[in-house]
Amino acid sequence: MENAPSPIRNIGIAAHIDAGKTTTTERILFYAGVTHRIGEVDDGSATMDWMEQERTRGITITSACTSVEWRDHAIHIIDTPGHVDFTVEVERSLRVLDGAVAVFCAVGGVEPQSEVVWRQADRYRVPRIAFVNKMDRVGASFERTCEAMRKKLSCQPIPIQLPIGVESSFQGVVDLVRQRALVWTEGETGEEFDVVAIPEEISDAVAAARDELIACCAEVDEELLDLHLEGREIAPKRILAALRTRTIRHEVFPVLCGTALKNRGVQPLLDAIIDLLPAPEDVPPVTGVDPEAGTEVTVSHGDEALAALVFKVMAQDSFQTLSYTRVYSGRIHRGDRVVNAVTGTSERIGRILQMHSNRSVQLEEAGPGDIVALVGLKATTTGETLCSSYRRVTLEGMTFPEPVISSVIEARRAADQKNLAEALAQFAREDPTLRVTTDDETGQILISGMGELHLEVIAQRLDTERSIEVRMGHPQVAYRESISAQAEREDTFQRMWAGEKLWARTVVRVEPNAPGSGIEVRTLLDPTSMRRELVTAVLESLHATAQTGPLAGYPLIDVIVSLVDASSRGEESTAIAFQTCAARAYGEAIRAATPQLLEPIMSVEVTVPTEATGDVLKDLGVRRAEILGVESRGEIDVARAHLRLAKTFGYTTDLRSMSRGRGTFTMQLHEYAPAEDSPFST
Ligand code: GDP
Ligand code: MG
Repeated sequence: MENAPSPIRNIGIAAHIDAGKTTTTERILFYAGVTHRIGEVDDGSATMDWMEQERTRGITITSACTSVEWRDHAIHIIDTPGHVDFTVEVERSLRVLDGAVAVFCAVGGVEPQSEVVWRQADRYRVPRIAFVNKMDRVGASFERTCEAMRKKLSCQPIPIQLPIGVESSFQGVVDLVRQRALVWTEGETGEEFDVVAIPEEISDAVAAARDELIACCAEVDEELLDLHLEGREIAPKRILAALRTRTIRHEVFPVLCGTALKNRGVQPLLDAIIDLLPAPEDVPPVTGVDPEAGTEVTVSHGDEALAALVFKVMAQDSFQTLSYTRVYSGRIHRGDRVVNAVTGTSERIGRILQMHSNRSVQLEEAGPGDIVALVGLKATTTGETLCSSYRRVTLEGMTFPEPVISSVIEARRAADQKNLAEALAQFAREDPTLRVTTDDETGQILISGMGELHLEVIAQRLDTERSIEVRMGHPQVAYRESISAQAEREDTFQRMWAGEKLWARTVVRVEPNAPGSGIEVRTLLDPTSMRRELVTAVLESLHATAQTGPLAGYPLIDVIVSLVDASSRGEESTAIAFQTCAARAYGEAIRAATPQLLEPIMSVEVTVPTEATGDVLKDLGVRRAEILGVESRGEIDVARAHLRLAKTFGYTTDLRSMSRGRGTFTMQLHEYAPAEDSPFST
């Protein structure tokens, strides 16, 4: 089956909570003909909101990809969640999309959280168009929202529409590119609209906005200005081409408006997604690494070799797992064998599905730019790359932070304990930032994640999705251990075992490794002095032992372990003898190397309205934060600080009350530093 690849747009819809992201997405699905009745958020039937969690909390937590068709283009909508504790989810979505629609509320304008999401998109250089939603609400203002974008986001918004009427009299939009007015009739579901002449009373405003639009486009197509000044007709295609170029370069952000709830303005938004946001071939090539050679590999849209990123693994039911995958280059066909570049294992592509909001369509193949769900991958997890055997590449940019917080969890009903373990194991497969461990002796289950809310959401999902009620312990800091000095110890091992004499001698050294470099185990032996398999056996067992620290068994980090010297006596020096001997030498060395308990220091960014800045800074002082700076952006201040994780417990609630609900914060791991107030600190 040889099909020309259809033009693709991979987009995300980003918004402040309540701006209308879900409603807008619903309308997009509806007008693109996928759903047959409009799902309403308010009665909980919205198709994208398949998670119970979202219905009750009103926030989107898990990303999924939904595909629609519009004007012979495939639009893949990657759902981007908006909550602070889920920045990983947001970032992994940003990683695979090429452009985004930022939805703003015409009343609230650019709210603090919109800023957070906007900055994240800036970091990934995602081209965007803006949709000013809720034009029907009392207090709505298109101009004010554009002004807020200019001031608070320091960007250049460029209206390509003007509203006709506002609040209850909002009827439609003027299309500044095609110079016509689109008007929707009251009480309909909005499939039909009338194209009419531009209303006389706003003709001056329209002329001014058109001047601005043409001037903006003339930056890349100089002739446009002359044509415009001479009053000549300009083909809409030409304006759109210029605007698209500037949008893809992140120089300008085209702005549209409407009301998703009242079904006005959504079709032009779909048109703008096609006309102005980049196709996969319009964005710069991605880079990856050759896992063996360690060299950089550039993956271009037109390459024949496969490079595809599995960005989300989700169990659909107990029988099948969907691996959401973005293809960057090459093609995959049903039944193909491909290589997981990270693990080196071979995978067979079972079925290839395109997910629509209410059905899935089987495909024979997928090509560059496509986002599909693969069924049948056995050993591939989130963040791993699938590639051709003749060009191995791991795509970068999907590193997941280590969990910093943990809590004991147990089922309220003893009978649920086994189900709890199974459900958590499944959640952990889908969410690389969630860790689940079970204490072999006590059977106690510990879950670890990115923050308090992350763990709370897990508890809620267990209840709503699996009917398992749970009890959680107080959140605990996920400590690490390391050493601050070098130490070397020698051990001679001698024992009778099962009638055989065993003998070995080893010298092991431990020393601090650079922060973030993890555990490194190496040999300094002369390669001819000892049999290779013996050396390998010793290194393997040292590696296993060096996973946990000597103080309290927390994970050990940033240590180099060296096998410095070893001697053997013929048959008496078996692998077991060497392993035991090296473990004893290592144990003494690590205890002598001034072990330290380390705690996570978080990098926190707090965004607050200026009137609350004083209180927020004072409170950060009380939490003994190191304030790195405060940046003023009009009505908003952004404070950056380093804060010990233990001092962030309860911060969401406290910040809310200090800022009357308007403050938001993001945090991520900055570094591990020697723990204060710890019973183990030396
Ligand atoms: P999300 O949190 O960004 O996904 O926002 P939702 O789509 O869930 O919408 C939040 C609330 O705003 C819901 O009660 C919607 O019915 C309402 N809403 C969404 N779009 C509009 C709109 O265009 N006009 C009005 N008046 N309300 C809207
Ligand atoms: Mg929503």
